[in-house]
Amino acid sequence: MSDQDFAQTIIAIGSNIEKERYLPEAIRLLRRHRSIEVRDVSRFFESSPVGGPADAPDFFNAAVLACTDLSPQGLRSELRHIEDVLGRVRTDDPNAPRTIDLDVAYYGDVVAEFEDWQLPDPEAATKPHIAIPIADVAPSFVDPVSGKTTYDLMLGVSAPPEAVKPVTSIRLATPYEARGPEDFDQTGDVYAPQLEALVRAQLLEIGEDPEREGLVRTPLRVAKAMDFLTNGYATSLDEVVNNAVFDAEGADEMVLVKDVEFYSMCEHHMLPFFGKAAVAYIPQGKIIGLSKVARVVDLFARRLQVQERLTNQVADAIVEILDPQGVGVVIEGQHLCMMMRGVQKQDSSTVTSAMRGTFKRDPRTRSEFIDLVRG
Ligand code: ZN
Repeated sequence: MSDQDFAQTIIAIGSNIEKERYLPEAIRLLRRHRSIEVRDVSRFFESSPVGGPADAPDFFNAAVLACTDLSPQGLRSELRHIEDVLGRVRTDDPNAPRTIDLDVAYYGDVVAEFEDWQLPDPEAATKPHIAIPIADVAPSFVDPVSGKTTYDLMLGVSAPPEAVKPVTSIRLATPYEARGPEDFDQTGDVYAPQLEALVRAQLLEIGEDPEREGLVRTPLRVAKAMDFLTNGYATSLDEVVNNAVFDAEGADEMVLVKDVEFYSMCEHHMLPFFGKAAVAYIPQGKIIGLSKVARVVDLFARRLQVQERLTNQVADAIVEILDPQGVGVVIEGQHLCMMMRGVQKQDSSTVTSAMRGTFKRDPRTRSEFIDLVRG
């Protein structure tokens, strides 16, 4: 994302039901959203509920600095969707405990009034539990109403000492290291609480001790690895291509990109399969940057896959982007689920192909492609 096309936004987050779980989970869902690019996350702050019953549970609050190509209303409705995913039940009681609360506090320098909300969120300048996390993540962001920085606004909100204090027991794992005190308890890292809990349970099931030294941080590492290895779900073809399609009048020679390394996971065993892809097309007025072809392969490889579908999806994506005269894709992969379990010989590989347009209709085009791939 280039900054010119995207608005900078600050999202305020709060939770007081299972907050150790829901706050990090909300940040993870924001991070995976295709139209929201999380730039930084504040520390977590703990505060007593404002205006609620005396025995209401304390809140965790945080703020996220992000870029988005969504409109303010579009962003708000995506935040509502994430709240729904995380089990938020909306009631008429504004002080009711909630799993998660996501609000657009700022959206660039937009000052606007919508049907039931406004920008900036007026509470960003008046409520300590909102102003403090915002100032923590984006101290120099200028409030378009007052012309003051969020840091100055934070100094102006009156909060009794200790009313809003940083949470030191939870530290947000990379890539969004919480800032502030460096003496956080390393084992308190969280990234994807639900996923981590499942990995921990899995370790127990196979007879391991998740508390032994070598495994203490394994659920966190697995969660991060899974996020990376499946980030194809959170990426769109548009995003990958990002306008790198060029006019090429008269170009009608085969374009071939081969030896494109890929790493995927089979959907039957969730074990890796990997290898090389060859992608060829005959243009019809449009071409694409060569590096983008590799990114299209990654887009579909970084999901749970079967090799045949991966091959077809890459071919169909090239058709969608370029509308060429034809496309050919050949993928050669080695599947750990077969190799490790001794079902097949170690050195065997699986070859799949997908042909579209002239590659399908014209045997000469197809054999030219196959010869180039082999050569
Ligand atoms: Zn498998």
